Amino acid sequence: MPFSLVPDCLVDRYAEITPEYLKSRGICLLLSDLDYTLAARKTSKPDDSLRAWIAELKAADIAFMIVSNNRSGHRVTAFCDSLGVPYQGHAQKPSTRGLEEAMRRAGTDRAHTAMLGDKLLTDVLAANRAGVLALMVEPVGGAVTCWQKVLHAMQAPFKAAYRRKVAKDA
Ligand SMILES: [Mg+2]
Repeated sequence: MPFSLVPDCLVDRYAEITPEYLKSRGICLLLSDLDYTLAARKTSKPDDSLRAWIAELKAADIAFMIVSNNRSGHRVTAFCDSLGVPYQGHAQKPSTRGLEEAMRRAGTDRAHTAMLGDKLLTDVLAANRAGVLALMVEPVGGAVTCWQKVLHAMQAPFKAAYRRKVAKDA
């Protein structure tokens, strides 16, 4: 169970994660965080660009599931229902429990799974501990609250480590 906060991929927006990229990495299940990853916090309805991206994934036969630590079930459930995607709640990231349950439900394994999220200490750490591809996205709407700004600053060295890794591998 490796402890690493360095993502395998860092993008500005979720839509940069394309079906082509996922297929090139052998991924058939994409797990994703919700808040600040797919939508700004407290958003209750998915927008058209998110719907279009999910449709592209589905068309490419890539299964998709939202894996969230969120406890306020109603908003997240309504969001997922509206999007037509399954939801794994109470994931307790950075625990690997939610990711493992999601893989079990989807009938696939870690070699074919990726996890997308905006936070290193929950999403990326859970992905690395579970041995799935760790995809990180800059927070939707940017760092808004004081806590987000602090978190953003704390994440910077690990993003720099990712960029160094990419430059070395190039
Ligand atoms: Mg998030």
